[in-house]
Amino acid sequence: MGLIVQKYGGSSVGDLDLIRNVARRVVETVDAGNRVAVVVSAMGGETDKLVALARKIGGEEPEPREYDVLVSTGEQKTIALLAMAIHRLGRAAVSFTGGQMGMRTDTSYGRARIASIDAQRIHRVLDDGAVAVIAGFQGIDEDGNITTLGRGGSDTSAVAVAAALDAEVCEIYTDVDGVFTTDPRMVPAARKLDRVSYDEMIEMASLGAKVLQTRAVRFAMRYGVLLHVRSSFKPDDGTWVVPEEDIMEGLFVSGVTYNRDEAKIRVRGVKDQPGIATRIFSPLANAGIVVDVIIQNLSQDGTTDVTFTVGRADFRRAVEITKRVGDEIGAADVDADDTIAKVSIVGLGMKDHAGVASRMFQVLAEQGINIQLISTSEIKVSVVIDEHQIEPAVAALHAAFVESGAAEPRTEA
Ligand code: ASP
Ligand code: MG
Repeated sequence: MGLIVQKYGGSSVGDLDLIRNVARRVVETVDAGNRVAVVVSAMGGETDKLVALARKIGGEEPEPREYDVLVSTGEQKTIALLAMAIHRLGRAAVSFTGGQMGMRTDTSYGRARIASIDAQRIHRVLDDGAVAVIAGFQGIDEDGNITTLGRGGSDTSAVAVAAALDAEVCEIYTDVDGVFTTDPRMVPAARKLDRVSYDEMIEMASLGAKVLQTRAVRFAMRYGVLLHVRSSFKPDDGTWVVPEEDIMEGLFVSGVTYNRDEAKIRVRGVKDQPGIATRIFSPLANAGIVVDVIIQNLSQDGTTDVTFTVGRADFRRAVEITKRVGDEIGAADVDADDTIAKVSIVGLGMKDHAGVASRMFQVLAEQGINIQLISTSEIKVSVVIDEHQIEPAVAALHAAFVESGAAEPRTEA
């Protein structure tokens, strides 16, 4: 039997009973003949508490090195508790902090990038028949400073460990049954996907489906790590995230996602001439603000409007910068709106079929929903709408594309 990496998120290790439940699942997997490395998050809510503590004493931007020393402690608690629980069930387990297992990163505190992993140490533990229990979210830099990978980073830790160990699969355990066609709390007809491709999962994760960190899926795709997103509380299979070639039949649309995290800024009446876009967007980029959807209207009388979206966390800063730039380039006006939402459809089927976008616009029109901005890629169409219309938009799109069962037979190319 094989080598399996299991990752348990904060909601799966939120209290001692839950940790015991995880220990049982781990031991069952070992008893079935597998070697198991487990990557865990902090107990649910723990990291938020640590971040709040850091801010109380260190202000809005606490000293980055010490911030990482502090917030990495959440995971350290979980590994010790889980290793103890596994021992109580009669199996050996050895806990590892990021530093102890040789998770090397760069020195960008709070958003460190993984450089390498020393898999030897873990292999030795597994060869001895013990379970390796590894702290997610953390590593060390060249000088031994503790670093963290950014919120939600233990998904990425797990994938990195799976890649380093050449594991058969990286199982991501969570409090839902898998990846759904849309948010089941909003649309009861939402259903679990058995399989989804890496590309679709990357789009869905970045467009607002919260089960997996986008970065982790990109990492998995790059290193060919199979992902299996499944429930910590049920034995059933969840959703497999696999290469596109392994998906024989798919829906035109695999997922309908929404995201309230964006806000819109419009620069009106700017001269339609070379250099204007860079004058607007360079200062935003320099300030580290990521711009998402951008549209520029057709010009009339030599002037045009440029509209774009940014994350809500950056909204105030982005508006300030854009107003200043607007003055400099002689724009008529800058206005802003943070009551928008982005609703998207994602599916491999869009690659080879025309008309999916226009059908989407038609479905929204039938609901009387006004589209403010549109952006597309090979496998997704996103629209920006009024945030009050998320529910009817998502429900109608799900009904039209998913519940209708518009499946696409995939034939070999
Ligand atoms: N504990 C960290 C967080 O809450 C990392 C993780 O759970 O993935 O962001
Ligand atoms: Mg998570």
